[in-house]
Amino acid sequence: MEEKRCILCNKPYNYKYEMFGRGCLDNLYELLGFAKQPRIIWNKELNLCTRIAWKNHKFFLNRKKKYALAQKYIALNYLNMMNYEALNDTKKKISNDIKNIKTFSNNIVETISFSLNEIYRLFNYTQKFNNILEEIKNVNWEEVDKKTAENLIKSVSFIFDITKKTSPISYVVFYSMQYIFWQVVVIGGILNNKKFSSKLLFNSLTIIGNKPKDLIIKDDEVISLITESEIFKERINQLIKKYGQDADEFIVDDKNPKEDVLIRFYEGDLLYALHDATMLLKAKKDKNKKWNFEIEINDKYDFTEFKNIKQYADVDKNKLSDIFSTTLNNFAVVSSEFGVIKTFDLKIIFNTKEGEF
Ligand SMILES: [Zn+2]
Repeated sequence: MEEKRCILCNKPYNYKYEMFGRGCLDNLYELLGFAKQPRIIWNKELNLCTRIAWKNHKFFLNRKKKYALAQKYIALNYLNMMNYEALNDTKKKISNDIKNIKTFSNNIVETISFSLNEIYRLFNYTQKFNNILEEIKNVNWEEVDKKTAENLIKSVSFIFDITKKTSPISYVVFYSMQYIFWQVVVIGGILNNKKFSSKLLFNSLTIIGNKPKDLIIKDDEVISLITESEIFKERINQLIKKYGQDADEFIVDDKNPKEDVLIRFYEGDLLYALHDATMLLKAKKDKNKKWNFEIEINDKYDFTEFKNIKQYADVDKNKLSDIFSTTLNNFAVVSSEFGVIKTFDLKIIFNTKEGEF
């Protein structure tokens, strides 16, 4: 006899049913809210399909249509339990296909095909994810010890599986889980010590089909982060030496050599936020012979580039910094591939003067 596999859980079974093993069949009765059947029912599977048909107000369907309807209806139930907005389109298609199963039509018309086993597995992934998410939400990231934090973050790595991108339904489910994960990371305070990178990460997250806005940043916190960094101070001094010796003003823009324009930060928050930025400036001496600067820093927020920058590892001794620079960073690279973390342009504009930084 040919081995039969349950179309829901994919485990082998040998029983008279066409689709489900006995365990899954019992679970489906419960899942769909049907009361347990009396023993006298000979074929519980056919009975389940009939009851699903009746629930959908479809009577006198032939057996083939009943079984097809049941699969779609069960899939829809699992998709509903996953509760991701991005699945609405898929659900709508399956609902329509259910509507189109009619007693007096010859064919079953399908606008979307799926495997019940795939949907079942996706559902199990989301259950596992939800459980870990609850734990993550309850963690106090300021106090948790490094090992616990790391294990917790690593336990979610299964949602960053690039091979899940290929099937459309699984893409949507994994996209949604990653999107939620990053929302929790940003809002939940894992990156509390990296406000600027959090802000940019938050901006880059969009629901499926949407593009992030470009950002123009003028806020003081970010500006002092930059002006207080050694890289910035050194660069300004170099530029004054190079262009300001016998002048009252100078401009550094795209026409200048690259090394005067490109700027890369090596410190914590700035390292994660800005990758290969360019800094343009206008410098002018005021009446006290002090240099005044109008500065514009431009960058494209792009996590896929980050792989190459990783070698300049974070030297910040913060207890969570290495998790961010390795595990979270690898997650972010996968999320860029999924399009959960998207690229956008950002511009930081400010004025400063000699002696103020
Ligand atoms: Zn099964």
